[in-house]
Amino acid sequence: GISFDFTGDTRVLTISNQKGGVGKTTTTVNMAAALASLGARVLVIDLDPQGNASTALGVPHTAGIPSIYDVLIDEFPLADIIQTSPESPNLFCAPSTIHLAGAEIELVSQVAREHRLRTALEEYLATTEDRLDFVLIDCPPSLGLLTINAFTAAGELMIPIQCEYYALEGLSQLLGSIRMIQKHLNPALHLSTILLTMYDGRTRLAQQVADEVRAHFPNEVLHTVIPRSVRVSEAPSFGQTVIAYDGQSVGAVSYREAAVELVHRQQSATKEGAL
Ligand code: ADP
Ligand code: MG
Repeated sequence: GISFDFTGDTRVLTISNQKGGVGKTTTTVNMAAALASLGARVLVIDLDPQGNASTALGVPHTAGIPSIYDVLIDEFPLADIIQTSPESPNLFCAPSTIHLAGAEIELVSQVAREHRLRTALEEYLATTEDRLDFVLIDCPPSLGLLTINAFTAAGELMIPIQCEYYALEGLSQLLGSIRMIQKHLNPALHLSTILLTMYDGRTRLAQQVADEVRAHFPNEVLHTVIPRSVRVSEAPSFGQTVIAYDGQSVGAVSYREAAVELVHRQQSATKEGAL
């Protein structure tokens, strides 16, 4: 079988796309679970007030639970809010609660409002005895202060793209925002990965969209495509990722393949860099 050497630096990816319903949360939790199944230690930070990532990871996130809100607004250490997903001892979640809906406004008047998440994450990574291989941040659909906190904390941007009409529309706006972040807040942030999702191979349109995205971003798009699959959409209502819900399904298999690619790309980049 394939084995990986997870001994490099922690990779922090923000999963973003300012469109809603394109598969951000689905990609975050299933990539995280797939990476954990390969042996990586993975933390998901749920930055969406809807808390769908927390739900899918089977982590309690009702109003009284300590959450990422407390980290951003009241400077709780991340260690105080992180929970282990029942799915895997390698899979962790910093949950969101309903309180996060107010954070976008509350952050406006805070000191270092764009750096709150980065500071908390750096402090956690510097002090914890349990190293992490990946941190995946699930963003809300807007380009507000929560998303800016994610961009400031991350080294890599991963964009899930739904293989439907207008897939590229709005992408230049997102990339423009990234350039602003690079210039003013986080020079290290770069678009590392694009994942084509909800692919329906029976339609010519899906093929055309995939070709168009690959033509624009030949180095960023993963070879693996995530097909549209009922098992993927069912899993969250059981408080599970598709990896745990139906590990042999086409959705689970493709998310595992995408995770292998994500790991492999970094490892080959490291090797080339060393030569
Ligand atoms: P976002 O976080 O970008 O708003 P979601 O991840 O919540 O998007 O996905 C939007 C909807 O599409 C959800 O109902 C989800 O279950 C469904 N979905 C996402 N990926 C797939 C897929 N590969 N196959 C079928 N349904 C999917
Ligand atoms: Mg979402």
